[in-house]
Amino acid sequence: MSRLLRGSLPLLSVLLLALPLAAQESLPDLVTAEMPDLLSTYTRLHSHPELSYQEKQTAAYLAGELRRLGFEVTENVGDYGVPGRTSYGLVAVLRNGEGPTVMVRTDLDALPVVEQTGLAYASQVRVESGGNQVGVMHACGHDVHMTSFLGTARLLAQLRDRWAGTLVLIGQPAEERGAGSRAMLADGLYERFPRPDFALALHTSANLPAGTIGYRAGYALANVDSVDITIRGLGGHGAYPHTTKDPIVIAARLILALQTIVSREINPLEPAVITVGSIHAGTKHNIIPDEAHLQLTVRSYTPEVRRQLLSSIERMAREAAEVAGVPPERAPIVEVNEEEYTPSTYNDPELVRRAVAAIGKVLGEENVIETDPVMGGEDFSRYALDGEIPIFMFWVGGVDPERYREANEKGLTLPSLHSPLFAPVPEPTLRTAVQAMTAAVLELMGK
Ligand SMILES: [Zn+2]
Ligand SMILES: [Zn+2]
Repeated sequence: MSRLLRGSLPLLSVLLLALPLAAQESLPDLVTAEMPDLLSTYTRLHSHPELSYQEKQTAAYLAGELRRLGFEVTENVGDYGVPGRTSYGLVAVLRNGEGPTVMVRTDLDALPVVEQTGLAYASQVRVESGGNQVGVMHACGHDVHMTSFLGTARLLAQLRDRWAGTLVLIGQPAEERGAGSRAMLADGLYERFPRPDFALALHTSANLPAGTIGYRAGYALANVDSVDITIRGLGGHGAYPHTTKDPIVIAARLILALQTIVSREINPLEPAVITVGSIHAGTKHNIIPDEAHLQLTVRSYTPEVRRQLLSSIERMAREAAEVAGVPPERAPIVEVNEEEYTPSTYNDPELVRRAVAAIGKVLGEENVIETDPVMGGEDFSRYALDGEIPIFMFWVGGVDPERYREANEKGLTLPSLHSPLFAPVPEPTLRTAVQAMTAAVLELMGK
């Protein structure tokens, strides 16, 4: 047989036959072969969501799959700094000779949302939380991220002769709490495991059609700060306001004053948001309470604007109480929750350029769309270590193209991320995600 081959086939055919099968096939064909399995992985993950800090089964499943592919897997990576809180972070390493180290991240956690999509594989999961039953749903598409992450792992394991270097795949818990990346870094992600030269991630988009990728070089997602303000007045009878210092009136003035920070103090060319998302005070019609509590979300891109916003909030809270005649010892307490701070995501422009060109070659340039930056936040940003490591997070369209077109024509609003109706269409979304991430990694590590 071998003599026959040598004798009858041209040299090129013999060389091609000597290569592993995978190396001869195109990326789209390889993804097609994986799709049936990935679709069942997706529905399985979708119907078994776990809340932040509870991603035990999800992480164990990913760890098992990655071990089978030959990755060195370490589980329970992460330190929240909270006694008794286990981290379900996982790190999977595949060493494949000399070359760059590339990290790909997926998140693992779902949200306390009762799914209302009506899909056959909709989550029925309910858990106890603070004495209440809450639904659990992958309403942020983290199941898309995990499934395409496994798809990318399978492809890169098959295509080992097309790349060289060290591939580090990480499953990060508690993204929705902005806590997981901090915990994994605190537990030595970059010391115990190979430190990446590049880090990549993707996120499902609720406003791009499936089959497309969205990207933004530079600032793409915002700094997120949570601020708590306690306004301390002097309570009393509602009929005798002159004997009190009413914290509700102070809060009302402050809320409106805060809106002038963005409109009057910040350079209009710099994005910034201050939203008062919660206000609580009082118990009854005719009682002026002692205190009012406000909870704010504060968004920005640059560290300078962030500092300016936070210091203006502090100043305005102090002034609002002063104007009302509250004595200095009862000045408002303004707390910036550093634990819940998420830095802005700055996509390294050179890395974006390389990855986007490679993705465009596989998907067609018309399917790779430059998108606007947004004021949402994502703790993937932390892996950049303030600009030391180039990172890139891109968007994967998740909307059924037909629904997308219809919504555009009729001016309808599509369900957003975190909506109980959010239902990415699995087939083109996953296929596109796997192709895009694999193409980006091959661009960075390809021979
Ligand atoms: Zn989310
Ligand atoms: Zn998310």
